[in-house]
Amino acid sequence: MIDLRSDTVTLPSDAMRRLMAQAEVGDDVYGDDPTVAALEADGARLSAKDAALFFPSGTQANLVALLAHCQRGEEYIVGQQAHNYRFEAGGAAVLGSIQPQPLDADADGTLPLDKVAAAIKPDDFHFARTRLLSLENTHNGKVLPQEYLRKAWQFTRDHHLALHIDGARIFNAVAALQIPLSDITQYCDTLTICLSKGLGAPVGSLLCGNADYILQARRWRKMVGGGMRQSGILAAAGRYALEHNVQRLRDDHDNAQWLEQRLSALGVEIMAPGAQTNMLFIRQPAELAAKLGPWMKRHDIVIAAGAVTRLVTHLNVSRADLEKVVSCWQAFLQHHAQLSGAPLTGVYFQ
Ligand SMILES: *Cc1c(COP(=O)(O)O)cnc(C)c1O
Repeated sequence: MIDLRSDTVTLPSDAMRRLMAQAEVGDDVYGDDPTVAALEADGARLSAKDAALFFPSGTQANLVALLAHCQRGEEYIVGQQAHNYRFEAGGAAVLGSIQPQPLDADADGTLPLDKVAAAIKPDDFHFARTRLLSLENTHNGKVLPQEYLRKAWQFTRDHHLALHIDGARIFNAVAALQIPLSDITQYCDTLTICLSKGLGAPVGSLLCGNADYILQARRWRKMVGGGMRQSGILAAAGRYALEHNVQRLRDDHDNAQWLEQRLSALGVEIMAPGAQTNMLFIRQPAELAAKLGPWMKRHDIVIAAGAVTRLVTHLNVSRADLEKVVSCWQAFLQHHAQLSGAPLTGVYFQ
């Protein structure tokens, strides 16, 4: 199967599995797991924060990040399409009584700071207290510009807000910009990182921040059921991922650019062209999308075809796989053009 739905589908390699099998473990709730401790030390060192905490999922790491920043009745400002607003089942509101203030992001994934300023509530009992600005990097495959982050950081200092980065795919930004993670994380108080996306670990995320904050986060993590026992088996995979799978993300980015060019040449409409990392988005009529998914499936290619289709490259998709995807797509368009008597391009893909 060639699976382009997400980089979450990546499978642990044999070398990663060997390291997992051999990992030294202990009960991490007692603080006895040396492999978890080593992974958390890696996270702290790479992000240049005091400490890091290992979580079973990015959703839980983001939830705890919000619980540790905001009390009941407080507020975070966040992107309308951000994962920790839209795709985490409303956890902060349900479990934390934390009010989200969503804003539309610009096309480059940034939240315009003048709109953020206008959304900060006055210090008055009518309003929730605004505590936190939450950014996502990368957002829909876009790398937030470093200059924007620098301004956002200064902005939050001026307005007494904390700044959290949902960095599920922060290492895609690292690979794209070719700078150390700490160059990015100098502009945030806290950061979440997914090890189980393009980095290829089966499970796990990190939350990084200062020592006091991580101490509070540890309590929240326990409360929401994220205290794990011999989790060094999972942490070993995360350590392997950080050591071996960061720089290779550039291959995924090259592949996304290549796929974008080839699909564009077939007349497929690319949304926001110019893939910066490992994602592209295409637009097509819904009736065509409904046929595309099953067509690809018959050729062992899995895509989440819709009116907007996201295609994600990752370590289990090679250039040869993508060549097959392009030729299947071309055949699909030709077949469909014959059925409808329409020309190959220009009709369905305006
Ligand atoms: C995937 C993702 C998460 C966390 O998702 P999990 O599936 O819970 O690990 C958080 N934020 C973003 C931007 C993501 O893409």
